[in-house]
Amino acid sequence: MHAPIKYVEKGLSIAANGAWVVFNGLNQIRQRPSFIPAWSDKPLLKSYQKTKPPLGWPRETDSLCPTCVREARQEILDGRKDVSVLLNEKVGEIKATILERDGKIVMVKDCPVHGHFEDVMAIDTAFFKHLEDVFPGRDIRAHNDETLHNHGSSTIKHGRGSVLTVDLTNRCNMMCDPCFMDANQVGFVHELSWDDIKTVLDNAISIKPKRQMSVQFSGGEPTISPYFLDAIRHSRKVGYNSVQAATNGIEFAKSADFARAAADAGLRYAYLQFDGIGNAANSHRRVGNLFDVKLRAIENLHSAGVDIVPVITIVNGVNNEQVGRVIEFALDNPKKINFLSFQPVSFTGRDEEITDERRQAQRYTLSHLAHDVKKQTGLGEPTDRTRSGASSRAAATRTAASAWP
Ligand code: SF4
Repeated sequence: MHAPIKYVEKGLSIAANGAWVVFNGLNQIRQRPSFIPAWSDKPLLKSYQKTKPPLGWPRETDSLCPTCVREARQEILDGRKDVSVLLNEKVGEIKATILERDGKIVMVKDCPVHGHFEDVMAIDTAFFKHLEDVFPGRDIRAHNDETLHNHGSSTIKHGRGSVLTVDLTNRCNMMCDPCFMDANQVGFVHELSWDDIKTVLDNAISIKPKRQMSVQFSGGEPTISPYFLDAIRHSRKVGYNSVQAATNGIEFAKSADFARAAADAGLRYAYLQFDGIGNAANSHRRVGNLFDVKLRAIENLHSAGVDIVPVITIVNGVNNEQVGRVIEFALDNPKKINFLSFQPVSFTGRDEEITDERRQAQRYTLSHLAHDVKKQTGLGEPTDRTRSGASSRAAATRTAASAWP
């Protein structure tokens, strides 16, 4: 026999559930129209209108055959195919399966021509699930974007602005290995003219929705483009919120005047190549842009008023032991370091012909990063939903690992 209070509680619970069903039903019938902000021509989506692609695993997804992609690019460069195939055909596209194996999340795919490929997406299934769980759903559909988003099946369809990356040149004053662009060795120079730069910037700023539109100049090394400063100035003039440069820092280290000129033109952030603390950690690129140069670049940029974001390209087994030291460096220099951007290495450019063995050994995913942060600093938990630990301490010093979930 239950106590009378239990029956009261049960009754209240049934009544509350009934009231919720009625309230929700009425809400669905008499929907208030969604708000249309100034930066969009269409209404914002309500949360129930946001769709999600299939998530979880095992599941099938769209992917690319890396060898088909390389071959297609060579055919275009050799003039054997027109570049329009990238718009009109699904060049290199194949299906892939995402599955769990030995406690890891793996992508496997088979190309009818080039055979079997597979790679690790996460070393921690709980971490991977957490990333999928926090995906809020697709955002508002892009519109007024005909001059910008026309990339065949790779066209961006959703979002409310972005960071536009403009590669000003494929030249560089370094010759790193790895280099995501194969700068200086690819066999040709690709450098945007002033008219090219203006067209890209003017087209992209016209897109709607455009809640926030930032631009990052990259390369090669963007500072050696003759139009670097003009491009920054023009970006500010036409309305980009924040103007950034992805740089190896050499020009800024060489000249405090150059850092000031960039700041005066409107440069807000320098995304500074930064492989670790000390000269040894910055030497695996086999070129001499070592830690002392980075420190001078940081000094000159900071004095000029440019915010600095060290970008740490992590290669497993090469500099992943630097994760903790870099976080400590940022926490020790909160005035100079705004936040950190950890970037797991991408085997493109100079490294696209990497052997399977090396790729497997050097692959580094966000899940590796989450575990290395915990192991090397004791901060955070790889699947911590409360984002306490690392995040709260980092926020206190205006420093955060941007790849942290
Ligand atoms: S990785 Fe960056 S700095 Fe190094 S060669 Fe490539 S573009 Fe230049």
